[in-house]
Amino acid sequence: MKLESLALHHGYKPEQTTKAANTPIYQTSGFTIDDTQHGADLFDLKVEGNIYSRIGNPTNAVLEQRVAAMEGGIAGLSLASGMSAITYAVQCLAGPGDNIISTNQLYGGTYNCFTHSFPKQGIKVKMVDGADFQAIENAIDGNTKALYCESIGNPSGIIIDIKKFAEIADKHGIPLIVDNTVATPYLCRPIDLGASIVVHSLTKYIDGHGSTIGGIIVDSGKFDWTKDPKKFPMLNEPDPSYHGVIYTKEFKEAAFIACCRVVPLRETGACLSPHSAFLIMLGLESLGVRMERHCDNALALAKHLEKHDRVAWVNYAALPDDKYHETCKKITGGKASGIISFGIKGGMRAATKFIDALQMILRVLSMGDAKSLACHPASTLHRQLNSDQLALAGVSEDMIRISVGIEHIDDIIADVDQAIKASVT
Ligand SMILES: *Cc1c(COP(=O)(O)O)cnc(C)c1O
Repeated sequence: MKLESLALHHGYKPEQTTKAANTPIYQTSGFTIDDTQHGADLFDLKVEGNIYSRIGNPTNAVLEQRVAAMEGGIAGLSLASGMSAITYAVQCLAGPGDNIISTNQLYGGTYNCFTHSFPKQGIKVKMVDGADFQAIENAIDGNTKALYCESIGNPSGIIIDIKKFAEIADKHGIPLIVDNTVATPYLCRPIDLGASIVVHSLTKYIDGHGSTIGGIIVDSGKFDWTKDPKKFPMLNEPDPSYHGVIYTKEFKEAAFIACCRVVPLRETGACLSPHSAFLIMLGLESLGVRMERHCDNALALAKHLEKHDRVAWVNYAALPDDKYHETCKKITGGKASGIISFGIKGGMRAATKFIDALQMILRVLSMGDAKSLACHPASTLHRQLNSDQLALAGVSEDMIRISVGIEHIDDIIADVDQAIKASVT
């Protein structure tokens, strides 16, 4: 099946007891065990089955299989948020004394996790310019366990040449982790371009209706963890926390995603509720049609802003003269999702006035909602950064970010125009 059809059907066949057409919400914490032998077999991984919803739930399993199929991976692990997906993916690869290499223009929450939380756990994150391939290679050392980037960066709109990143990661024997939240598998499939692991905030375009927080890790199954077993001890050495299992032996090419489930998820518990999984799947059904509309509306708004005499600059990679347009063509075929950033003349003051004057577009810090959302990153999402850090993160004081929704384009443009007018006075 093609991606649009996978989004509707993959991973669920009407179950035989009730023949429910929609994926049932298995709202249960525990699952019954037939007898003690069955229980022992479940724990020894000799038979497949459900035990407890922190570790796995059949509703969540449908979401996991569906997103994994859409990304071209072999398995997924749904989690309580995008941040838990990012955290668990890195924690299964790196420990104290290790490091990962990341691009420096990142989602604000990821930036904080990488600069504060991971270093406290002994995991260093070396940040480099995503366009400076030599700097990336120079940063890699014997303790580097992964290369990390966002396919389309939020909020700066930078676009990463994933193929090139995958080549570098491959050359140094490390996996490439790509946060594909902004692009979604509809626009870009990082695994096809060589990525080993994909992470998502399901909260954004995949849920698509601003109703649910969720995240997922997708494993390509293509990275050979056994090639340099000392580099990935978590996956290649007996795990005392799970009665000595060696993940690469027990789970073969699905070692990484199994480890994510039975180590960080089982032990620290950021599981997704089955009700949330159901809502996310409802949103996911229309991903393709929504993404088409998000892209069309965003391009129309970007073209309008580009011509506007009160607008100082516009970043949107689908514009032919955008700095990232060529890379955008390489990874998405030229579509750039729904996030536009721009500055209006008058700097910080004009930007805040613009935000305050919006009437239809909602002042919401999230993105990827069917509704148009606007924010001023420098005074909100990135408020804790100083001006040097802001510049490095690709955020300027006058930057306005609009997550362009699927309303009629005339209404979006009308609201933006009246707010620009109001920002002058
Ligand atoms: C929102 C977001 C996240 C974090 O996801 P949550 O679901 O809010 O935890 C991670 N990466 C990107 C690119 C995001 O936009």
